[in-house]
Amino acid sequence: MNKHLPAPAARLPFPYRPEAEVVAAALAALQGRLDWPAVVDAARPWVLGARAHPAPFWAMESLLREYPISSAEGLALMRLAEALLRVPDAETAIALTADQLGRAEFDANQADGPWRMLSQLSASAISLSKKFLPDAEQPAGLLQRLGARTVVAATVRAIQLLGRQFVYARTITEAIAEGQGQRRQQPGLRFSFDMLGEGARTEAAAVEYLGAYEQAIEAIATGRAGGNAGPAGRDEISVKLSALFPRYEEAQRERVFAELLPRVWGLVQRAARADINIAIDAEECDRLELSLDLLDALAERVAAEFPHWGGLGLAVQTYQTRGLEVVDAVAAMARRHGITFVLRLVKGAYWDGEIKRAQEGGLPGYPVFTHKHHTDINYLACAARLIDHHQLIYPQFATHNAGTIAAIVQMARQQGAAFELQRLHGMGEGIHNEVLKDRSIACRVYAPVGEHRDLLAYLVRRLLENGANSSFVHQLADAAVSPEDLLASPLVPATAPALALPAALFGAARANSTGVDLACAAMRQPLLDALQRVQVEPVPLATAEDVAAAMARLHVGFDAWNARPLAERAATLRRAADLLDARLPQYCALLVKEAHKTLGDCVAEVREAVDFCRYYADQAEERLKDQPLPGPTGESNLLRLHGRGVFVCISPWNFPLAIFAGQVVAALVAGNTVAAKPAEQTPAVAQRFVALLHEAGVPADALALLHGPGETIGAALVAHPATAGVCFTGSTPVARLINRTLAAKDGPIVPLIAETGGLNAMIVDSTALPEQVVDAVVQSAFRSAGQRCSALRLLCVHESVADGVIQMLCGALAELNVGDPADLATDVGPVIDDEAFHGISSHVQRLRGQARLLGETPLKSGMPGMARLVAPVAFEIVRIAELQTEIFGPVLHVVRWGGDVNDVVRQINALGYGLTLGVQTRIDSRAQRIADTARVGNVYVNRNIIGAVVGVQPFGGEGLSGTGPKAGGPHYLYRFCAEQTVTVNTTAAGGNAELLAGLAP
Ligand SMILES: Cc1cc2nc3c(=O)[nH]c(=O)nc-3n(C[C@H](O)[C@H](O)[C@H](O)COP(=O)(O)OP(=O)(O)OC[C@H]3O[C@@H](n4cnc5c(N)ncnc54)[C@H](O)[C@@H]3O)c2cc1C
Repeated sequence: MNKHLPAPAARLPFPYRPEAEVVAAALAALQGRLDWPAVVDAARPWVLGARAHPAPFWAMESLLREYPISSAEGLALMRLAEALLRVPDAETAIALTADQLGRAEFDANQADGPWRMLSQLSASAISLSKKFLPDAEQPAGLLQRLGARTVVAATVRAIQLLGRQFVYARTITEAIAEGQGQRRQQPGLRFSFDMLGEGARTEAAAVEYLGAYEQAIEAIATGRAGGNAGPAGRDEISVKLSALFPRYEEAQRERVFAELLPRVWGLVQRAARADINIAIDAEECDRLELSLDLLDALAERVAAEFPHWGGLGLAVQTYQTRGLEVVDAVAAMARRHGITFVLRLVKGAYWDGEIKRAQEGGLPGYPVFTHKHHTDINYLACAARLIDHHQLIYPQFATHNAGTIAAIVQMARQQGAAFELQRLHGMGEGIHNEVLKDRSIACRVYAPVGEHRDLLAYLVRRLLENGANSSFVHQLADAAVSPEDLLASPLVPATAPALALPAALFGAARANSTGVDLACAAMRQPLLDALQRVQVEPVPLATAEDVAAAMARLHVGFDAWNARPLAERAATLRRAADLLDARLPQYCALLVKEAHKTLGDCVAEVREAVDFCRYYADQAEERLKDQPLPGPTGESNLLRLHGRGVFVCISPWNFPLAIFAGQVVAALVAGNTVAAKPAEQTPAVAQRFVALLHEAGVPADALALLHGPGETIGAALVAHPATAGVCFTGSTPVARLINRTLAAKDGPIVPLIAETGGLNAMIVDSTALPEQVVDAVVQSAFRSAGQRCSALRLLCVHESVADGVIQMLCGALAELNVGDPADLATDVGPVIDDEAFHGISSHVQRLRGQARLLGETPLKSGMPGMARLVAPVAFEIVRIAELQTEIFGPVLHVVRWGGDVNDVVRQINALGYGLTLGVQTRIDSRAQRIADTARVGNVYVNRNIIGAVVGVQPFGGEGLSGTGPKAGGPHYLYRFCAEQTVTVNTTAAGGNAELLAGLAP
C-alpha cells in the first residue's frame, strides 16, 4: 500500500438511508431555531423589490420564463446552447440549428411577461429564421444556405451572450479588473474565482488546469486589495478536483493520494502564501468520502505550515442525505488539527445525474432527497449546525433563495455568528441586491472565468438550474407565483419519496435487481470478504454416456415439467432470482476468480442474471398463457403455447452467468427441459447456478449440466435425436456448424436461436461532446478487456474533430489500469485464456505493421502471477472495409470520415454484422436517420454501446450477428415454444344454447 494512503475514515453514515428518516433528523436539528412567519416578513420585501426590477430581456431568466426547459422550445434552446459553439464547420452548424429549431414551435402569440413586445418580436424572429433553414438532413439551395448562415451566426451570437451572462470574464486578468470595478460600486464585495472546465480525461488536460489555477492564484494575489483581511475579507479561488486529476474516483484512492493530493497541496500552499482562500467544489456523491479524506490530509499539512491562515475550504451539498454529518466531520477535523475552515453551503448542482446513477445501479435508495423542500430543510439544518460551529468554521451560504437567506440571517443573528452570502455570477442578483441594502451582510460572488469552449457544460448546468420549475430563481421570474407561495415554509416533511426507489424502477410487477455502490465501503465489503473465501470448485467432465443418460432423463422429464402450471414455473424462476440476488457477493467472487472479470463487471453480470429470471417469469405469465381467439358462434378457439421438448443451451465464457442463466431459464419457463453446456473455461459458475435452480425447485430431470468441449459434448448434444431446440451464443463459425449439424439431422426440423459476434461501430460527428465520446469509447471498447460481443471495434470520427478526439482518447487510454481483476482499481483484467491471448496478440502485432498506432495503455511491470494481460490499444485505419474479422479483445480501430454520413452507415452495413451501433451527435434527426438505415440490433445514441439491460434494451442482432429474437425482449420466449390451437364445436351436443339465450328478450 502507498505510504501516502491513509485508511479510509468511516466518518459518514450510509448514503442510502430512507429519506423520511433523514428529514426527521434534519427537522430535529432545527427544533426551536426558526420563526418562519418572521422569515416570510423579512423576505417578502426582497421578493417584491426584485420583481419590481425584472431581469433584462436578454437575461437567461427572461428567456427561460418564455421557454421553460420542460417545453420543446426550452429544450431546443438548451441543446443549441450546449453544442453550437463547438461545431467547427458551417454546414453542420446549419444542420444542428435547423434540427433543433425545427422541432419546436416558437409562437409569438404566447409570449407575455414584462418584456411582452420584445418577446413577441424574438419569437417571430425565430419562427421567421426557421424558414431560412433547410431540413436538417436535406441539402439546401444556395439562397437558403445564405439565409441559414445568417441565422446560425445570429444564434451563435445569442448563445455567446447567454454565456457571457454566467461567465465573469475570459481571462483571470480581465476578471480581476472587472472585480475591482464592481468593488468600487460595492466595497464589501468579495469574489470566488473559478477557472472553468470540467473533469479532465487526460493527464495533459489536468496539467493544463493546474497551470490555470496556479496562474489565477498569482493574479488574484497581485490584484488583491492588500492587508490581512482574514477569511471573510479575502478573495477566493474555487477548484474542482476532477479537473486536476483524470481518475478522481474512490476506486483509484491510491493514485488519488499519490498524484492528486500533491497537486492540491501545491495550490493550497500558493493560496496560503498569497493570503487568499481556496475552496474545493463539491462534485458527485460517490466522491464525497474521498474528498473528505483529502481535506483531512490537507488540513494536517495546513496545521503544520499555516496554522493561522484559516482559508482552507470546501463546498457541502445539502441535497445529499449526509449533509449534516459532513458539516460535523469538518468541525471534528478543525478541532483535531487545531485550524479553522471556510465552508460553502450549497444545495447542489448534479441532482438529475445522482438520481439516474442510483436507478441504473439498482441502489438501495437515493443519496439525495427526492423532494425539493427536503433539500431546503436540510440546507437550513446544516446552516444551523454551521452557525453552531462558527468558531471553527467560517460559514458561507451560497443560495439565491429569498426564504433560505432570510432564515439564515435570522439564525445567524440569534447566535451572533459571522457569515457571508454567496451567489453565482449572473444569478439571483435581484434578491441579493435587496438583501445587501442591509450593509452588515457580506456577500461573495462566484465568478467563473474561461473561454467559450470551456463554458458549455457550466452553461448547461445553469440553464437547468434557471429553467427547472422547482427552482427558486425560475419561480421568482414567474409573476403567477405569489410571494406567499414562493416563501411557503418548507418545514413540512413529506412521508413518502417523490420518486419510486430504484428497486421499483420497473413498476410493481418486477423488482429491479439489487446493485452495489462500490464507492461505498459498507456495500463493497461483503464482496471483498467473499473474494477471500471463494473456491472455484472442480466440475466433472461429461462423457458420451453422460450425454446419453442426461438426454434420456430430460426426455422423460419433459412431460411432467411441461405439464406444471405456468404460474408454478414462473414462481420457480422468481425464487431463483431472489436466491441469486441475496448471494450476489459469492457469485461476484466466483466470477472474478473463474472468468477474471473486474468487480464492477461482476456486479452488473449477476444483476443481469437476476433480471433475466424475473423478466422471463413475468413474460411467460403474460405471453404464454392460453389466448381465446375470436370465431363464429357455436365454436370456441384457444391458442396455447407449450414447451418443445429438450432444449440444448450452449453459452460462452464472457458472460458465464448472465448468458448461461438467460438461455436456461427462458427455455425452462416455456416448459422445456434443458441440457446446459457451459463454456469449457467457466463451468464452475454454471454448476453453482444449476444447483441454485434445483434449490429453487427445478426438478433434477428438467435440467442437466454437461461440461465438456464443444467439439465433443456440444456436438453430441446438438446431434442428439431428442434435441428439440438449440440456443447458442458464441462465434459465427460455430453457429454455422451447429446450423449445419441440425440441418443434416433426420426427424423434425429443429429451431436454432443463435446470438453471435459483431463488428460494432460508433459514428461521431462534429456536434458531439468529445469528453462524452471518449468516456463512451473507453467503456465500450476496453471494459471487460473488450471481450463482449457488444464491444466497440470501430470508431468513425468526423475528420473535422478527429485530431482532438483521438488525442483525448489516447490520453484516456494512458490512464487505464490493467491488472488483477480482484483489485478494485483495475479497469481491465486479463483475457480469458492463453489461446485468446495469443490470438489477440498476433492480431495486434499484424496491426502494428499495417495500421497507424494511435495509443495504448502502458502495462505496469512487476505483476507477478498476472498472465494474459493485453494492453488496450487503438489503431487508425484508412477504410472501414479493412476491418474484416472480430478481434475479441481490447483493440480499437479508428477511421476518419467526411462527406455524407449515410455513406458511413452503408459501409458499416456492408461488413455484414449487425449487433450494436453507437451514434454521437446532437442532431436528433441525424441520429434517427442513422438508426433507420443501420442494419443492427441495438443502436445507442450519445452513450456507451455495452451493458444492455434486460427488458429495457433487448439484446441481439441480425445478419452475421445472429438469428434473433432478442434476449431480454418480449419476443424471446415464443421461439422456445410450440403452438397449438384447440377448436371446440360447442353446439355438437345439440343447438347453440348460448346464442339463443343471448338473443332472448
Ligand atoms: C457560490 C456558489 C457556489 C456553488 N458551488 C457549488 C459546488 O461546489 N457544487 C455544487 O454541486 N453546486 C454548487 N453551487 C450550485 C448550487 O448547488 C445551486 O446554485 C443551488 O443548488 C441553487 O440553490 P438555491 O438555494 O439558489 O435554489 P433553490 O431553487 O432553492 O434550490 C435548488 C436546489 O434544489 C434541488 N432540487 C430540485 N428538485 C429537487 C427535488 N425534487 N428533490 C430534491 N432536491 C431538489 C436542486 O438540485 C438544487 O440543489 C454553487 C452555488 C453558488 C451560489
